[in-house]
Amino acid sequence: MKKLFYLSLAASLYFHLATTLAFPLHQPVPGGTAIIELSSADTTQPTAFYKNQRVAVHKHDGAWYALIGISLNTKPGRYIVSYQFDDNKLYQHSFDIKNKTYKAQYLNVKNKRKVNPTAEDMKRIVKERAIKTAAKNTWSEQTIQTEFVRPVDGRISSIFGLRRFFNQQARRPHSGLDIAAAQGTPVKAIADGRVIETADFFFSGNMIYLDHGQGVISLYAHLYKTHVKPGQHVKQGEIIGEVGETGRVTGPHLHLSLLLNRTAVDPEHWLPATKPQ
Ligand SMILES: [Zn+2]
Repeated sequence: MKKLFYLSLAASLYFHLATTLAFPLHQPVPGGTAIIELSSADTTQPTAFYKNQRVAVHKHDGAWYALIGISLNTKPGRYIVSYQFDDNKLYQHSFDIKNKTYKAQYLNVKNKRKVNPTAEDMKRIVKERAIKTAAKNTWSEQTIQTEFVRPVDGRISSIFGLRRFFNQQARRPHSGLDIAAAQGTPVKAIADGRVIETADFFFSGNMIYLDHGQGVISLYAHLYKTHVKPGQHVKQGEIIGEVGETGRVTGPHLHLSLLLNRTAVDPEHWLPATKPQ
């Protein structure tokens, strides 16, 4: 009995820590975030790279960590994070990425042009791609916050990573988290940041990109209204827009994406647990 008591104590303690630690979950899988310890906190801030891209570093609990976004198309295996300090000597650390399979999702979109764009639409989409790429490539050196807030209280209507079929046609996997809420519901910034871009995109509708530093970028899509302008600084929890159903949607919801080293990862690994409904 005693053993069981300690076991349940340990389990509840673990659960407590897991739900209160202000640090994302180490999920070395496609679509996950790998949290790799690089050096003790006594060193200067390291500069870290994964697949030739800068990755976010953060000082936490007496150590410097790399926070690496793993793309959905990554094959399981051993990967390298390299890092350096002021002396420019290069260090390496290997870590294993495990397999993860995501379910398929079948959606019916009434506006057929949003699934099979016309030639005219394609011109617009190509232009928008350049704006999106520029926004994704943003890097600023500021220290990141690792304790996020949820942007909207609501039902999760679609999780990250689902292999998607629109009107029976295969499209790219779901690059974010969908939270269903009524049109006009306020949308909050998940962390302090600077507005990189706001625009009306063909697929994403009205969208906001926020730069949180170190290549950590959040984006909010399908908005009814945006309340911020590029260059503006916002505080965590500040209302930046309103939930809508602009772009390719089946109903009003917020699509939240989180980018690390230009890679979309599952925002749920960074967000606090949902309140019991
Ligand atoms: Zn979505």
